[in-house]
Amino acid sequence: MNDGGNPDSSARRQSEPIIVGGTPGGIGSGAARSAGVIVGGGAPVVVQSMTNTDTADVASTVRQVADLARAGSELVRITVDRDEAAAAVPHIRDRLRAQGIDVPLVGDFHYIGHKLLAEHPACAEALDKYRINPGNVGFKEKKDRQFSAIIEIAARYGKAVRIGVNWGSLDQTLLTRLMDENAKLPAPRNARAVMHEAIVQSALMSAARAEELGLGANRIVVSAKVSAVQDLVAVNKLLASRCRYALHLGLTEAGMGSKGIVASSAAMGILLQQGIGDTIRFSLTPEPGGDRSLEVRAAQELLQTMGLRTFMPVVAACPGCGRTTSTVFQELARDIETMIRTEMPTWKGRYPGVETLNLAVMGCIVNGPGESKHADLGISLPGTGEHPAAPVFIDGAKAMTLRGGNIAGEFKAIVEEYIERRFGSGAATYRRGAITARTPETVAE
Ligand code: SF4
Repeated sequence: MNDGGNPDSSARRQSEPIIVGGTPGGIGSGAARSAGVIVGGGAPVVVQSMTNTDTADVASTVRQVADLARAGSELVRITVDRDEAAAAVPHIRDRLRAQGIDVPLVGDFHYIGHKLLAEHPACAEALDKYRINPGNVGFKEKKDRQFSAIIEIAARYGKAVRIGVNWGSLDQTLLTRLMDENAKLPAPRNARAVMHEAIVQSALMSAARAEELGLGANRIVVSAKVSAVQDLVAVNKLLASRCRYALHLGLTEAGMGSKGIVASSAAMGILLQQGIGDTIRFSLTPEPGGDRSLEVRAAQELLQTMGLRTFMPVVAACPGCGRTTSTVFQELARDIETMIRTEMPTWKGRYPGVETLNLAVMGCIVNGPGESKHADLGISLPGTGEHPAAPVFIDGAKAMTLRGGNIAGEFKAIVEEYIERRFGSGAATYRRGAITARTPETVAE
């Protein structure tokens, strides 16, 4: 769903556009996913994710890829770690297509990628992009041979490649050489700066070698992942200043829950604000049995919060305080969020533009009416001790007041009616402020 862009596109770093997936000549994205997804070249920042199923387990992997794609992941990476996994890849691709899901698949290779791709040509063909890590593609004299084998297969099949350096598997020979050279300088840099330099050099030397081997710059994505926010920012700023490759951002080993989301958002937010980054992934550790698609939602919310893309209606809700002793307002805010998440897959097709909708659910009269007026549709619930009435604001004007025991249900009906009128088949005749229809329980003031 490449449906938005940086509000100040001149601020985006210039990068090579890569088309991942799709058919030759069919550039596009989003709903026309079969035409491929564009990464870089000023295209809207792409959200991607990765499965944690055993790729050899076709049914589980298909289910999880489908869940991630439905949640909005525009590229999905799968582990290809052994023969059984490589053999499963074309079946996974075919079963997904049979369900109408043609999200591009990225194969993640370590150590034996050259062998798996050579021995499983159907896997090499079914994947849309290969991810390789120069730090563990092979050791000593085998390194270049094995790296070259993967790049040559990618060039032959017309696939994109991500050269993904990770500080946990950084090329130790390169790091040692740079450390030794640094130590001989009259004013040596600190070890952290040398490590940043090693990460950047590892990525850029590998990308240059891939170009030498015949893979165009328009097929190369580069990433440099570290696990600390300030390191991620420093490394990617260096990388961005030294090349035109499309950049994949992600904080590796970000952690669980709010810790992982906050750390990833802080790091990627700084870079995105500087126009750096063409695709992002939140590497969140799920709770046991938890929903893997949280990483997709977090990535979407970061991009939408920053005004870079629009994925779904936003619900502004106050935090609540001592004025909200009942749970009505929290329940309504949660119900509206749930309704949006549940309905969006249908709404996207039926109501073009619905993702731009702004809603407000506020807990009392202090900020409720003011915030609600700024939203397309807002409700200010009664706080403790307030008159038990909930004014509803539509397009900035007070339209009605809800009372009684079904305020939540009535407000949800008003939201649905508004969406139908503004974004549905009759949207061409929609005028702001035109909706004032009242449900029977509603009392006008
Ligand atoms: S709007 Fe009212 S309930 Fe919500 S945080 Fe402000 S004072 Fe508290």
